[in-house]
Amino acid sequence: MAAAGLEGQVALVTGASRGIGAVIARRLAQEGASVAVNYQSSEEAARQVVQSITDGGGEAAVMAGDVSQEDSANTLVKQVLEQWGRIDILVNNAGITRDRLLLRMTPEDWDRVLEVNLRGAFLCTKYVMPHLIRRRQGRVVNISSVVGLGGNPGQANYAASKAGLIGFTKAVAREVASRNITVNALAPGFIDSGGMVDQMTEEARNLALSRIPMARFGSADDVAEGVVFLCSPGAAYITGQVLTIDGGMVG
Ligand code: NAP
Repeated sequence: MAAAGLEGQVALVTGASRGIGAVIARRLAQEGASVAVNYQSSEEAARQVVQSITDGGGEAAVMAGDVSQEDSANTLVKQVLEQWGRIDILVNNAGITRDRLLLRMTPEDWDRVLEVNLRGAFLCTKYVMPHLIRRRQGRVVNISSVVGLGGNPGQANYAASKAGLIGFTKAVAREVASRNITVNALAPGFIDSGGMVDQMTEEARNLALSRIPMARFGSADDVAEGVVFLCSPGAAYITGQVLTIDGGMVG
C-alpha cells in the first residue's frame, strides 16, 4: 500500500531498534524508502527490524551509533551515504527518560536526557542537512512529546528536551524552507509501544485514560502514520509545525 510516494528515497530513523522507531522504520520501508535502522546498544533487536523489512520485500540496513556523540552522529550519516549514495528523510526518534522529581534529579540525569533527546537531534540534523540542501529536497521529522507542550511532574529534564526540540524544529524550518526542505515535529501522547505505558500501575493507567478524550492509548502505528504523512508529497507545504498525536488530550 505505497501511497506516500517514497520509492527510491532513503530514510535514516534514529533509535529504530524497538518501540515507535521500529514501527516508523517499517512503515517508511512499506512506502518504498530504503531505511537505515539506527540503534545504540540493541544490535540484535535492530537486526530483527531489518530482517522484518527485508522479509516484506523492503530494503534496510542496521547502523550503530550513539546520536549524542558528535563523531558517531557524523559517522552514522556517512554510513548511510556510503550504503545508498543519498539521504532524503531524517527521523530524529532516539530518546530516553530519567524521571525524578526536581529535588532528586541529578545534574547527570539532566545532562544525559538533554544530550540524547536534544543534542542528538541537533547533531544528526546538522550532518544530514548539507546533503538535503545540495539536492534541494528533504524532510526532517522530530519526535517530540505532549510533555514538551504541557510539562509533567518528574520529567523536568525530558520536558525541557522535548520543548527544546520544538524550538529547534521551528528555527531550522525557517533556515531551510527556501531549499524545499521541511522540518516538523510530532508530539505523541501516551503511546502503548512496549515502554512507558507498559510500566505504569493500573491506577496510573486509569488516570491517564481518563484524560484522553478518545479513551484509549495511542499505538506506534498512530505515530508512524504521522511520519509517513509529513514525508509524503502532499505535505510539501507544511513546515515548522507540531502535530499532536494524542487522542485529543492536549486540545
Ligand atoms: P524506546 O522503546 O525506549 O526506544 C528508544 C530507542 O532509542 C531505542 O531504539 C534505543 O536504542 C534508542 N536510543 C536510546 N539512546 C540512544 C542513543 N544515544 N543513540 C541512538 N539511539 C538511542 O522509546 P519509545 O517509547 O519508542 O520512544 C521513541 C521516541 O518517542 C522517543 O523520542 C520518545 O521520547 C518519544 N515519545 C514516546 C512516547 C511513548 O509513550 N512511548 C510518547 C511521546 C514521545 P538502544 O536500545 O540500542 O539503546
